[in-house]
Amino acid sequence: MIAAALLALAALHAAQDPAVVCKKCTSVGRLPCAEHEKDMAAREDGVLFCSVIADCQACGGAGWVDCASCDNADAQAKLQLKRASVESRRAALSYIDKDMDRAIRKCETEHYVIGWELDRLKVGKKFLEAHELLHLQAERMETLYKDFRRDLRVKDEDFKEKFRVFVWTFPDDHRRASGAFCGATAPGGMKKMGTQPTYSVCGSRQNFNSDELLHRNLVHNVAHLILSAHIHPEWMGRYKAGWLDEGLAHWYEDKYWDVCDTYCYQEQNTNVDFKGGRWRLAVRQMVEKGESPAAAGVFEQTSDSLSLAQNAAAFSYVDYLIYHDPEKFMRLSLQLKKKIPTRDALKEIYGYGVMEFEGLWKSHVLATYPKR
Ligand SMILES: [Zn+2]
Ligand SMILES: [Zn+2]
Ligand SMILES: [Zn+2]
Ligand SMILES: [Zn+2]
Repeated sequence: MIAAALLALAALHAAQDPAVVCKKCTSVGRLPCAEHEKDMAAREDGVLFCSVIADCQACGGAGWVDCASCDNADAQAKLQLKRASVESRRAALSYIDKDMDRAIRKCETEHYVIGWELDRLKVGKKFLEAHELLHLQAERMETLYKDFRRDLRVKDEDFKEKFRVFVWTFPDDHRRASGAFCGATAPGGMKKMGTQPTYSVCGSRQNFNSDELLHRNLVHNVAHLILSAHIHPEWMGRYKAGWLDEGLAHWYEDKYWDVCDTYCYQEQNTNVDFKGGRWRLAVRQMVEKGESPAAAGVFEQTSDSLSLAQNAAAFSYVDYLIYHDPEKFMRLSLQLKKKIPTRDALKEIYGYGVMEFEGLWKSHVLATYPKR
């Protein structure tokens, strides 16, 4: 009896000795919760709340449990914090279930609230199930936000709210959600720009026949949301600043895929295609042939009224301006949100007029864009 107690005490001492590594958890002080898929625990660290595991009795929605074989106060405190965050986010997000009249699969991250209702989807060569898909979207959207922050030199403090992204299986859910969370509804994707930035879309096979197409659509539209929410929440695309609004959303498609095929105007689901989506090539050809749309005309369009060629030119203007100075580009964005015409804002920030801008842009295109 005493020997057993001594042994136990010795084991405890051994575990607490920093030089001795706990065999159970390699001394990190926690273990993946056995109730869930093995590989998912690490991904739970990337979210503040995940509805798939939130009700788990064993881990309290943290995805991890305390290691009983060793003592690690720091790990325990972190686990408790995570459980508390799960409870507070559960309450804060309950309005979504209420508005949709059922429990919605969702998670919250540092910068997003994500609702994800697709049960199964082929990603690359593998079919993924709902839980992993939810985390994958959260990780992809965080990547976009962090890239935006770095590419355009903006700060976390420039944004007041989280971005909400909802992907539905059924058109009826999208209709109901966009009515409730975007304040209007349309069969294609629906965005609420500016304050409470939100995007809702039906992600069914009918609308997107691959994960890549859906991913690209989310990147394009969430880039719109981030731009609209920056410092002065406003949708510039409804004024005559559609070029910067659409141009930047396309710029992120090009950045990740070298392909632009997402359009925001009415016919967005009719599979429109401009030069196979390879816009650097297309823009170079337009410039070489002297067929690029006039900048003065592009600067007069709303997001809805840009033609295909104007969309491609807008992407390229944005590319040129970011290439030269991302901070000035974001200053220009703030001026356009105040309804200042592009030609005036260009003069103020860059010191040149529309014609001079166009000449500099064309030189940039000819010097840097691929010929084939
Ligand atoms: Zn341990
Ligand atoms: Zn999860
Ligand atoms: Zn659990
Ligand atoms: Zn767009």
